[in-house]
Amino acid sequence: MKRIVVLTSGGDAPGMNPAIRAVVRSAIYHGMEVYGAYHGYHGLMNGDLLRMDLGSVGDIIHRGGTMLYSARSEEFKTAAGRERAMEVCHQHGIEGLVVIGGDGSFRGAHALAELGLHTVGIPGTIDNDIAGTDFTIGFHTAVNTVLDAIDKIRDTATSHERTYVIETMGRNAGDIALWAGLAGGAETIIIPEKQEPFEQIIERLLHGHKRGKKHSIIIVAEGVGKGDDFAKRIQEETGFETRVTVLGYIQRGGSPTAYDRVLASRLGGYAVQLLMEGKSDVMVGIQQNQLMVTPFLQSFEDVHQIDDSMYELAKILSI
Ligand code: ADP
Repeated sequence: MKRIVVLTSGGDAPGMNPAIRAVVRSAIYHGMEVYGAYHGYHGLMNGDLLRMDLGSVGDIIHRGGTMLYSARSEEFKTAAGRERAMEVCHQHGIEGLVVIGGDGSFRGAHALAELGLHTVGIPGTIDNDIAGTDFTIGFHTAVNTVLDAIDKIRDTATSHERTYVIETMGRNAGDIALWAGLAGGAETIIIPEKQEPFEQIIERLLHGHKRGKKHSIIIVAEGVGKGDDFAKRIQEETGFETRVTVLGYIQRGGSPTAYDRVLASRLGGYAVQLLMEGKSDVMVGIQQNQLMVTPFLQSFEDVHQIDDSMYELAKILSI
């Protein structure tokens, strides 16, 4: 493998930059040439490429977002779009692709592998919703951002003795809510993987109030519905003054945490190593702190699981 291309695709996540840096520097170290495609698959289809050297990825390890920009491309989902991407690769002598993104981006990489390009995926999304890895790049940073918000809201919640509902991102996955909720000492965590009867949530809030709790913090993952709707129902059923904070896109930004930078660096280096070994149509991941390879097809079939014991523990600790 002499020449590869790296791109970031789908929703951005803090840690994509250190992942790009790791791919570029490892590849050059091993004697390869590297291109970066701007705006994900859109740039690959249109030949919007940057020839990258060691200096191209200088001073980005601490920056959120992605220096290569990210995008969603409908055209790339068509066979004609993917043929165009393959043509660009042939024209430039590109034999391998590293894509940093989520499930959708991996489906694109799988489709290109079927056309003969060597592809490796690096899981980059704040949602932590990819099977084949315990953690995706960006998840830890997002959890810390949510935690910072919970701590601040806790101050005002205590002062006013109110109930607060905080809506987090995560698409259909509850990991951001679960981790931030446990770390932030939330009274209740509502996630798609574990639907607790609403009466039980109300019961717990009333019980806490009776034993003298001055406030309650309820974390709602976006995958179960709107924080506003939960707040309305809670106020109706308990009579407690309830306020809502929808955290939104702040969860996707910010300087990546040490963990995300280390994860991004390890996965980036590993992705290049796999391409050198001739591997393709696979994603890299981390399981129990070991670097792992999973075929894309298997990662599409499997479902990322939340840790049930963490959910149960959060309930126990919030009595
Ligand atoms: P993410 O990678 O974060 O899950 P998306 O699902 O939006 O984000 O996917 C990013 C891009 O990957 C899409 O805009 C599209 O170009 C490509 N893609 C998604 N699904 C497929 C698919 N089934 N086949 C080919 N390309 C796909």
